[in-house]
Amino acid sequence: MDLYEYQGKGLFARFGIPVSDGLLATSPEEARAAAEELGGQVVVKAQVLTGGRGKAGGIRLAGGPEEAESAASGILGMDIRGHLVRQVWIEKASDIAKEYYLSVTFDRGEKKPLFMLTTQGGVDIEEVAERAPEALARLHVDPLVGFQPFQARWLCFTAGVDDPDEQKQVVALVGRLYEAFVGCDAMLCEVNPLIVTPDGEVRALDSKFTVDDNALFRHPDIGEMRDLEAADPQERLAREKGVTYVKLDGEIGILGNGAGLVMSTLDVIDQVGGRPANFCDLGGGGDAQGVVDALEVITSDPQVRGILFNIFGGITRCDEVARGILEALDRMTIGLPIVVRLDGTNAEEGRTMLAEAPHETLHVEETMLSAAERVVELAGAA
Ligand code: GDP
Ligand code: MN
Repeated sequence: MDLYEYQGKGLFARFGIPVSDGLLATSPEEARAAAEELGGQVVVKAQVLTGGRGKAGGIRLAGGPEEAESAASGILGMDIRGHLVRQVWIEKASDIAKEYYLSVTFDRGEKKPLFMLTTQGGVDIEEVAERAPEALARLHVDPLVGFQPFQARWLCFTAGVDDPDEQKQVVALVGRLYEAFVGCDAMLCEVNPLIVTPDGEVRALDSKFTVDDNALFRHPDIGEMRDLEAADPQERLAREKGVTYVKLDGEIGILGNGAGLVMSTLDVIDQVGGRPANFCDLGGGGDAQGVVDALEVITSDPQVRGILFNIFGGITRCDEVARGILEALDRMTIGLPIVVRLDGTNAEEGRTMLAEAPHETLHVEETMLSAAERVVELAGAA
């Protein structure tokens, strides 16, 4: 789960990482009031879950309330790479002497958290990595030993943070960022830029914060930060119902059990000339409620013209899934053709149950390929 800049900064502040005071606004009037409250020069920042807002014109300095209001009216409603700006963060403007970059993320290859620090911040880190790799200090933390203060000193030294007063602040900040990273079960904590003011104060001017979805049960307060309105309506419905769902842009709705099987189903649909509308994984379940939920999500997408069930019965028995499909069809009306391919445990029973059922829209196929061909054909005719 990605957090907005202001939410990430809220978490930073909890862990003692210095950030600027600010207020959230959803209208130009609110932006004006926020600027009045903060006083002096402010910066008006688009809150969207994508980077590069500065380049896109989503960040503007304002001398006072008046300018903050007009900056906000320009930024609210903007489209930044497909993200509609519905909120702006009004922050006390900072004077910037230097822009650094600091992040901690997972290096999956090493199976360890990885810190990166460079004094060439403010720009895309990929750019620095390419142009001046020697300027990028990289350091792995052994998760069992934990973070050691000398590692922060090594990072500063290697990146070339020379000023002793700055070093002291950056070292403290690195330690706190690690605490935030571990404490929030984060996958990424990035500060770009990490600024040094003309007075020599080090502060996080931006935040990119990603929390592991699988750990959200441990952080209900962070889970509540999720902006449901920013999500696609089907994805929102899927999340509410606990269905694993990924929206694609074709016309065949796909339901399978297990991500591997679903992925190969996408390939087979493509192979026979169709285009998947989505990716829906029933996982280990296949009970009626699970099938109803998944079908509800799939059919809420108006682009869907046909539905393909591809089930391999292992622990999940095919007769159970067949029962689920039939119960689902009793509970809801679906006008679209549904093709079912069942294989594995109790497949024979499952197929017989479906074949004997009085549903005209239901078609049973024995192989994945024939099922894919059938559903694409029926969808074309629908
Ligand atoms: P991003 O473009 O989405 O990464 O947004 P950032 O929050 O990193 O802001 C982009 C740039 O705007 C920064 O690198 C700064 O140069 C500038 N900026 C942001 N906040 C301030 C501020 O308080 N004062 C000044 N002078 N510039 C700022
Ligand atoms: Mn940034």
